[in-house]
Amino acid sequence: MIFQEPLYDLDELARYNLHVHTVFSLCAKAPALLFAILKAAQAARLKGIALTDHFNDDISSEQYMEHIRLLKQEAERFNTSELKVYYGAELSAYEPGKSLESESLRQSLDYRLYTVNHFHLNFWGHPKENTPAAYALYMLDIMRSFILTKKAHCFAHPFIGRFIHQFEDQTLVTKALSDNQLGDIFCLAKKNGVAWEINSGAIIGDPEFARRYWNLGRECGVTFHYGTDAHHPDNVDTAKTLPLVKKILL
Ligand SMILES: [Zn+2]
Ligand SMILES: [Zn+2]
Repeated sequence: MIFQEPLYDLDELARYNLHVHTVFSLCAKAPALLFAILKAAQAARLKGIALTDHFNDDISSEQYMEHIRLLKQEAERFNTSELKVYYGAELSAYEPGKSLESESLRQSLDYRLYTVNHFHLNFWGHPKENTPAAYALYMLDIMRSFILTKKAHCFAHPFIGRFIHQFEDQTLVTKALSDNQLGDIFCLAKKNGVAWEINSGAIIGDPEFARRYWNLGRECGVTFHYGTDAHHPDNVDTAKTLPLVKKILL
């Protein structure tokens, strides 16, 4: 648990960037970039960051654990006492109940950020019907299973249709989700201590849904986490997109 209680002050939430990729996500050298990420986080006066590289089918759990070990070793060279660093992963919940990481990797991570909607990847499952409503239900099924098994700490860019390329209008999937369906999954997550990401790109990409997500989530008393999905150190500072996110949500 990163916050003891749910926070609804976006300025406070944005003092933590809980979705940051290192170049390891592109299978390059992690340590070199870690320095730049930590420097950027410190310059932005963030209180904490979570390193969440992709865990897809191109890597083993052992390789990922070695990656984390190297990151920790590299981080020791810098004074990060003012900055809390969570060593996590963006894990792939690709079908109801199914993900790729081993139990020991899962247990070793500080932060388990699951994505349920990387449908563009070839190992991802799909609903039987090719409709926006079927995709919405399919995502809910995956989430339910990862909440009930207590595997997830948080869901990354939940519900958005950005990765479902067959529907030209990316908001069809989020429009297919009813307030009741959203409320039910929020309540279940709250009961089981699972948080929801305020992913700046997702908020900006689907503002209408983002407002429903933020308002219903607060009504249900869920915990939100802020993340920029940074793939470059320039995007570690949450202040860059925060004004636009606030304009949409507040
Ligand atoms: Zn993602
Ligand atoms: Zn990501």
